[in-house]
Amino acid sequence: MSTVTRFAPSPTGRLHVGNIRTALHNWMLARKAGGRFILRIDDTDAARSREEYVDAIRADLTWLGLDWDREERQSARLDRYEVAFDALRAAGRIYPCYESAQELEVKRKIALSRGLPPIYDRAALKLSDAERAAKEAEGIQPHWRFLLDHAEPIRWEDGIRGAQKFDAAQLSDPVIRRADGSWLYMMPSTIDDIDMGVTQVLRGEDHVSNTAVQIQIFTALHAAGFAATSGAAKAVPDFAHEALLVGREGKLSKRLGSLGCDAFRERGIEPESIVALLARLGTAQPVEPIAERAVLTDSFDLSSFGRAPAKFDEEDLERLNAAIVHQLPFAAVADRLPEGMDEAGWHAIRPNLAHVGEAADWWRLVTGPVDQPDFTPDDRAFLAEAAAALDWNEDPWGTLTAALKQSTGRKGRSLFLPLRQALTGMDHGPDMGELLPLIGEDEARARLTRAAQA
Ligand code: GLU
Repeated sequence: MSTVTRFAPSPTGRLHVGNIRTALHNWMLARKAGGRFILRIDDTDAARSREEYVDAIRADLTWLGLDWDREERQSARLDRYEVAFDALRAAGRIYPCYESAQELEVKRKIALSRGLPPIYDRAALKLSDAERAAKEAEGIQPHWRFLLDHAEPIRWEDGIRGAQKFDAAQLSDPVIRRADGSWLYMMPSTIDDIDMGVTQVLRGEDHVSNTAVQIQIFTALHAAGFAATSGAAKAVPDFAHEALLVGREGKLSKRLGSLGCDAFRERGIEPESIVALLARLGTAQPVEPIAERAVLTDSFDLSSFGRAPAKFDEEDLERLNAAIVHQLPFAAVADRLPEGMDEAGWHAIRPNLAHVGEAADWWRLVTGPVDQPDFTPDDRAFLAEAAAALDWNEDPWGTLTAALKQSTGRKGRSLFLPLRQALTGMDHGPDMGELLPLIGEDEARARLTRAAQA
């Protein structure tokens, strides 16, 4: 049976680091197994869902290199949910409720004040036909709950958390549909997972109790004849729940909830850096600057995930980014480099960059003009000698420094620094052996001569 995973964002905002991590891990599970990855837009909440967010989700996933094999939208599947609703209602697993939000809140408070868990008391289930008719005659439209089976134990082997067990009696029958007919998340997601043949559901641990409920919905739907059209898929997918992502201080941070691809892009963070960090954060595998996606995907392993919250540190991301930039091939960055900067230029300058955007500053060392410091008379004489000794061959820098070392007896800093300062105007920077050929013979001689005369 081939692996099918899905990423199911609600288009009510932009993706943040937590969502990106879930998307990435589901993508990796599918890609590693040679399976399929579905993008499912959870847009049943018409009031809060926006088309611009759907576009932004697609754009962000594309920027991150997380391609999807199929796209689905819940808003296009409402007829299907209706069929499932009728089937579960006929099977006695869905019942109408008439309590107002205030009534439910009062019930909740009473339970809590008695030291009881605030579980829905199923009062609506006990209503007679006449009582229901009376409510509707009063103009109260029902909302709908799924009837959990208290006799059916809920168990699953979680891919990260291990054996999980829930007592259905300790859970409230979930509201699955509002009085206006609109759907809550719980049931449509289950129907979609069945219809789309999803074999593995990987999501944050904030969904653990949803999983307990959904397992019973899966079973009820299965009993009502709903089965994956592929035939091979199982009645209930495998589940895994990841520990949440927290900020550096170990707390759920507001900042993480708003940190997304736009912010990363603006700061010059490469998608590969985000991927390298999020692929391994919270796992037993070391976070390393691995720019090759396949290496990360092949080593992706749910069993290496820990139960402790994963700490997202923006400084780690910066460090990782610099190390990734140092590996990026010219083709990956060519359209973001200053005009005229070729592959050799990229290779010379790349080791000095924390962000690709800084390439332009360093490229100015090649194109000039450079701002030279004042040299001592001694250094000026030395630089004049350098201008004369410049010999253009395969390795002009090696040749020049070897000749000057011989003729002047200078070595180390007193040999290299005045040359670097005269040629680039800087005390540090890219490898001169790579930079000098890019500056070119005439320009290099002109800079040395000018420095000697100053
Ligand atoms: N739309 C849900 C969410 O964003 C999907 C949860 C799931 O993966 O089933 O939380």
